[in-house]
Amino acid sequence: MAKHTITVIPGEGTGPEIWECVQMILDASGVDLAYEFAEAGLPAVEKYGTPVPPETIESIKKNKVCMKGPTTTPVGYGHKSANVTLRKALDLYANVRPARSLPGVKTPWPNIDLIGIRENTEDSYAAIEHMVSDEVAQCLKVITRPGSLRIIDFAFRYARAHNRKKVTVVHKANIMKLTDGLFLNCGREVAARYPDIEFQDLIVDNMAMQLVLKPHLYDVICLPNLYGDILTDLMAGLTGGLGFAPGANIGDKYAMFEAVHGSTPKYIGMKRVNPSAVLQAAIMMLEHIGEKEAAVRIHKAMCSVLEEGKTVTADLGGTATNEQYAKAIVERLKAG
Ligand code: NAD
Repeated sequence: MAKHTITVIPGEGTGPEIWECVQMILDASGVDLAYEFAEAGLPAVEKYGTPVPPETIESIKKNKVCMKGPTTTPVGYGHKSANVTLRKALDLYANVRPARSLPGVKTPWPNIDLIGIRENTEDSYAAIEHMVSDEVAQCLKVITRPGSLRIIDFAFRYARAHNRKKVTVVHKANIMKLTDGLFLNCGREVAARYPDIEFQDLIVDNMAMQLVLKPHLYDVICLPNLYGDILTDLMAGLTGGLGFAPGANIGDKYAMFEAVHGSTPKYIGMKRVNPSAVLQAAIMMLEHIGEKEAAVRIHKAMCSVLEEGKTVTADLGGTATNEQYAKAIVERLKAG
């Protein structure tokens, strides 16, 4: 029996081809991993009538850890997002999205090192919507005190555990005085318990501008769900784009690792999408299951291929397929 069994949802669109690249690298790392494959998204809707069948939830509950590829969610109609369903069903309340500069990747600013901590289960992103009449649609934005306290506490604990100096809590409490006001008040309350970590709060529109102009002033950034969805993509743009942005969905019992990006449907079959985001999510997964040494080795091998710049994908101006890029990383791993 393998030391670790993880549930794998390869995902849709370019998800499966990216997963093949990442699995090739994980297998070459020497970590004793077994994969239990599970379904989610449109194929699951067609087969089981739900984007996340009970078998998938059971597999993650059994293995505690999941690698998830992107799933496609129709815009403006159709089934509920598999991601929203999984995060809710497994209570994966904290979405950790690091944005760090990598060698060989041209970015608007050098040496970016930001951590986005996004609340994952509440806010208007929970998509509690209804038609009030034929001409009026309404979406319910729900922010709770327990939900806000736990995500902000998570951000401060993360900051302390990773030797970070500052947590910025993002809100729009000048306008949404009750919902975002509650989030901000919880921020102030939690911050008082962490005198060693600097606390700052910022209105979301200002945060967007600050991230573009002065990203180095920020460290750990804690956001409600919708602002977190949007601004962590902006942070991905600061570090080379969605091909490099990983994420971890963490709860008290389970964890699910994935890229920030979607299923990139326009590139299906072209083998040109960058697997680095899913690979970095896999590195976070290895750290989570205690395989830190292998995580460091894979990170170094990836950085070495990126820095050399010869075997890189189209988003970096290269001509390599994602498979060739993954093979180059495997060669570095084998070379030690
Ligand atoms: P997307 O992330 O799939 O692609 C947006 C653009 O970003 C691409 O056209 C490409 O230019 C770039 N990009 C993204 N990933 C890249 C990679 N690995 N390498 C190189 N370039 C990359 O977003 P979209 O087109 O808005 O959404 C497509 C589908 O994905 C939608 O159905 C959406 O709901 C879904 N989605 C799923 C997830 C998820 O499952 N976690 C996240 C976001 C979007």
